[in-house]
Amino acid sequence: MSVNSESVSASASSPSSTEVGAPLVNRKVLSQDVPESESRPRIMHRWAIRRASQRVLCAAIPKEEWPRVVRCGWSMGALVSLLGQEGRTSWSGIEHCNSLWACPICSARIREGRRNEIQEGFERSKKLGWSAFFVTFTVPHTIDTPLDQSLGAIREAYARMRRYSSLRDFWSAVEGVIKATEIQVGNNGFHPHLHCVYFTRESSIDEAALKRSWARAVVKAGLARPSETVGVVVKEATSSGISNYLTKIQENKISLELTRSDLKRGRVNDESGSSWHCSPFDLLDPDIELPISMAQRQRLWVDYVRATKGVSAIRWSKGLKKKLSIGEVSDDDLGALDPNEVEAQLVFLRKEYQRLFKDSPELLAKAQQLFAAQRYEEVLNLGIGELILDDGSNLPDTDSATYSDPWESVA
Ligand SMILES: [Zn+2]
Repeated sequence: MSVNSESVSASASSPSSTEVGAPLVNRKVLSQDVPESESRPRIMHRWAIRRASQRVLCAAIPKEEWPRVVRCGWSMGALVSLLGQEGRTSWSGIEHCNSLWACPICSARIREGRRNEIQEGFERSKKLGWSAFFVTFTVPHTIDTPLDQSLGAIREAYARMRRYSSLRDFWSAVEGVIKATEIQVGNNGFHPHLHCVYFTRESSIDEAALKRSWARAVVKAGLARPSETVGVVVKEATSSGISNYLTKIQENKISLELTRSDLKRGRVNDESGSSWHCSPFDLLDPDIELPISMAQRQRLWVDYVRATKGVSAIRWSKGLKKKLSIGEVSDDDLGALDPNEVEAQLVFLRKEYQRLFKDSPELLAKAQQLFAAQRYEEVLNLGIGELILDDGSNLPDTDSATYSDPWESVA
């Protein structure tokens, strides 16, 4: 467990101003948020999904096997603080589970930080004259394929492919790879797949050899043969064209695609409603309509959390960060604000925070939402904690004339 902070949102980084080899400065505040696309407040939504995840897992799993997300958000010290700076927020004095799979709050914070790293990696690789290829690997599955089996098959098939002589030239030109595992779920069961960005010295890759090798490796790993068209999808950008490529797929979508699977929304694909897919977080979201019962959705969630235990979501190959002068930052440090350099703090005694976390988490979520909007003084209307602004003023609590149910806008 970690005692750090959690961040949502952020100001834009400026990778174009980063020189190759330049040290990364102030990495903790490098973060670029995605515009809030849903009508409901994103932060409150994440709190609600985390609470749902905790409840479902506590009920379904013996206490001694509870995953870390169950304790995420619990207080750790005598004081708990919500910190706010220029639209970014973080918590200090609480536990963070750091689960990219099971916790929507930690997932958003960590994925956003990793996305910025990848974006910088692209910028720097471009200056080194490398090419980049975005490759997606999928495996065939059915409703009866357990997720741990398909995840294991992906891992095994990829390892096998590393040894194939038919890909010797490909691997020898690869300077490094960033691998991101993503999982969707739908009427055909869990759909795990692998997104990879290969940084190479070559301006092309043998796509046909890659497809043949993946198909062979997947069969060896125990699954059916992937189709030629779907099993491996390659998108290419030459070294000189990377910036065009990134511009074309707006909003740094390559790094989004790699890291922010938590932002993808579920959908039903046909009128009969029998064909559907969604992100695992959507399983717990009652606003996302799916043609299966909530009990079935919760069972899928438990299966998913169990199967992803210990699975790495985003990984850089050894030595790649060093080649691109990207520093190592722990999950704990991603998005952490410095309490000495924030515009506002909302400070709680442990006992008050614990009571709120247990009985009225929507008030804590609402406070964070207001901090993210830099509407600090409106927090006084919630009547919780002690607000301290950066001018040192200690504003008094006020009775709320405008108070409304904080969960109202989530429903
Ligand atoms: Zn968490």
